Amino acid sequence: MNRIQLYQGDITEMHVDAIVNAANKSLLGGGGVDGAIHRVAGPKLLEECKKLNGCETGQAKITLAYRLPCRFVIHTVGPVWHGGQIGEPAQLASAYQSSLQLAKKHQLKTVAFPNISTGVYAFPKQQAAEIAISTVHNFLETDDWFEEITFCVYDDENYGIYEEILNQDG
Ligand code: ADP
Repeated sequence: MNRIQLYQGDITEMHVDAIVNAANKSLLGGGGVDGAIHRVAGPKLLEECKKLNGCETGQAKITLAYRLPCRFVIHTVGPVWHGGQIGEPAQLASAYQSSLQLAKKHQLKTVAFPNISTGVYAFPKQQAAEIAISTVHNFLETDDWFEEITFCVYDDENYGIYEEILNQDG
């Protein structure tokens, strides 16, 4: 599991090949981590996003990072939580999986993820963390491309949840 790292802080400060943005389907900016990424990247990021024609839930698209210290931004759309009976867990797993596939396709070795869907989209944090970690873990087990995948958590509650699961996994 040593290719999985846990970090608490602002994802816009990370010097990785790609940070992942928890975007919405329009890809035209929003609040939370999306707002923070666009603020730091500057207006050229929005200009590039406007050309992408949005993104479906569970899919991912890539842009340059402009003024961010990382090289690329992978924009993925997690599901809005509606109670968990309409495919939200599979859609969340797909958001992580699609982001990793896209990063690999672009030959990126280090990627940082925020806690997709656990803010405004209201996905329960414990279940979201289990899905995020198992999806990344399974990818790394079957594919040795990536050097390091970092879970960038922002709030203390998510930090505690991630720490516990990652310690269990050894
Ligand atoms: P979603 O709409 O997918 O729920 P949000 O941006 O509302 O997206 O929240 C996703 C997660 O990103 C939340 O856990 C939130 O605490 C976290 N977050 C907010 N700002 C930042 C930031 N600057 N860096 C990293 N994570 C952040």
